[in-house]
Amino acid sequence: MHHGRGSGIYAGVKINGVKGMNDVLPADVARWHEMESVAREVFALYGYREVRTPAVEHAALFARGVGEATDIVNKEMYVFEDKGEELLALRPEGTAGTVRAFIEHGAFVEGPQKWFYMGPMFRRERPQKGRYRQFHQIGCEAFGVAEPYLDAEQIALLADYFARLGVTAELKLNSVGDAQCRPAYLADLKAYLVANQGALCADCKDRIERNPLRVLDCKVESCQPVLEKAPRLLERLCEPCRTHFDQVKAGLDALGVAYRIEPRLVRGLDYYVRTAYEFTSDALGSQSAVAGGGRYDRLVETLGGPPTPGIGFALGEERLSMILEKVGRAAPERRPAVFFVSADATGALEGLRLAAALRRAGIACELDPRGGKMKAQFKQAERVGARWAVVLGGNEVATGQAKLKDLQTREETPVALSELAARVAG
Ligand code: ATP
Ligand code: MG
Repeated sequence: MHHGRGSGIYAGVKINGVKGMNDVLPADVARWHEMESVAREVFALYGYREVRTPAVEHAALFARGVGEATDIVNKEMYVFEDKGEELLALRPEGTAGTVRAFIEHGAFVEGPQKWFYMGPMFRRERPQKGRYRQFHQIGCEAFGVAEPYLDAEQIALLADYFARLGVTAELKLNSVGDAQCRPAYLADLKAYLVANQGALCADCKDRIERNPLRVLDCKVESCQPVLEKAPRLLERLCEPCRTHFDQVKAGLDALGVAYRIEPRLVRGLDYYVRTAYEFTSDALGSQSAVAGGGRYDRLVETLGGPPTPGIGFALGEERLSMILEKVGRAAPERRPAVFFVSADATGALEGLRLAAALRRAGIACELDPRGGKMKAQFKQAERVGARWAVVLGGNEVATGQAKLKDLQTREETPVALSELAARVAG
């Protein structure tokens, strides 16, 4: 994959890609197509429609829409001044831009809407397995419905999606309450964390004031004993939040979607309310989350739209791709059906012409424009994985007859060139 890296044998100056930003090479792209085409297929079954928003937005959108207190905005965002005029940012996530577009185009006047997106996101994190600086997300956002069966339906959509791909992922579910029940809880949580901060890591200590819920999400081993015993919001939900949560669970039960209640699962932002969920996979190692979602009933309002409840998730394509690789679900690349081998100059030109005709008929074919020894051309046919080879020379062109060679069985059968397309189709 890294031929020639550091070898210094060529004259030019080699410039490598940016750290934490990956190439997806042709051999892997089929898997990406599968992730994305199955997403389009499944999401459409649930009435989600695709939206495409820019990779660059005003930095202020994320400060408001993701939150200044989050690591994403605080530490990880790529921000730049556009020729000294405006402060712009590479999007670190897809929800803020989707909500901006939803508001900007007045989509809310049409009532409830379900949208999805896919594309690159950028965060200046420390690159490691499953964590990159450019990565790709597929996300769904549903606007305008606060009722819990929507939550259950969206979670089921994601479960369906994984099932279609042959992926096993575990669903973790929680409720993070709302403006009714959370403030009193947060006060207690803060007091508890302050009292125990001696046993917490530096990041946790840092977050107690800024974003105490997020502390619960810390993965550092030495913090676990304190976090295990922290007060639980799930036990203190107000009545409406409790009922909502019960109905989300009832919906999931009815849909046959299994879940595990995870009282420490959070979305650490103010406008996140009630339902929080995550899908994890053992195939991933320490970066085990493949998708995360939650209800954000105040986000549209926060970004200047009318009060509009919403719920959404984002799924990491690099992580899903890693799982697919493990479960051996690499979709096969398309191979050419026919490889034209030229015996002479007349045959080479006929190969060029026939290949074009077959391609117009939707049949993939190849030839070696270098011509050269037939043996080398046959080798090339095998390397590209062609199913058949046809040798063309002056004789074949004159008679309109050639031989169709099956490259697996080595069997040769006569074929009229005028019937070639029909013979190899399907
Ligand atoms: P994590 O806890 O893994 O850092 P997160 O809470 O930052 O995740 P979200 O912002 O909710 O993640 O993004 C949703 C999904 O996007 C994650 O579950 C993960 O699959 C993927 N993701 C997030 N950050 C990265 C990254 N830097 N590189 C690759 N994938 C990522
Ligand atoms: Mg993160």
